[in-house]
Amino acid sequence: MKPVFIIFFGPPGCGKGTQAKKIKDDLGLEQVSTGELFRKHLNEQTSLGLQAQEYMARGALVPDEITIGMVRERLKEAGYEQGAIFDGFPRTAQQAEALDRLLAEMDSDICMVIDFHLPIEISRQRLMARQEGRADDKPEVIEKRLSDHARVEADVMPHFRAQSGLVRTLDANRTVDEIYQDVVALVRECMDQ
Ligand code: ADP
Repeated sequence: MKPVFIIFFGPPGCGKGTQAKKIKDDLGLEQVSTGELFRKHLNEQTSLGLQAQEYMARGALVPDEITIGMVRERLKEAGYEQGAIFDGFPRTAQQAEALDRLLAEMDSDICMVIDFHLPIEISRQRLMARQEGRADDKPEVIEKRLSDHARVEADVMPHFRAQSGLVRTLDANRTVDEIYQDVVALVRECMDQ
């Protein structure tokens, strides 16, 4: 079977990371979360992590060159037999174009973009309540990430919407299990092709 590559898109707090982890456990698709990769690099104090730190701390996007380079390295690792979920990437048109190229090198492409819909107020409430101790879950940084999301969407979504049928939306204002039922059905559509 050909590996499938799917993008989870949505505002901070929409639950895409939680859903990607469940898909990895149940269906074996890797999770490629740029936010988590940056946090891991920072934890290990790599030069990439230190470069990313100042941007993350103020809720700004890390420059494309750094982000794309990190994803390129991640895709060289093993574990993509089933495919992968991209979570938090791409966030700019340039990142989206780079991802298309990286996958083309692997003789593959994006099967689907799942667009998690969540009202901004709910997103804010979820981030405020989050107890993961993330350095960027502070009120002023949360506001910046929330307001930037509209800009991210305007930059990256036209790239996907130009490909007919690629984007599928789901209501993320439900329980984890309810959302998961829809997510599994969508991922299976790709796996069954
Ligand atoms: P959230 O979606 O909750 O804001 P993430 O864990 O996806 O959190 O990202 C945390 C931070 O990491 C972002 O605010 C940003 O600084 C950086 N980051 C993550 N993904 C990208 C990306 N694709 N491009 C640029 N910066 C990114």
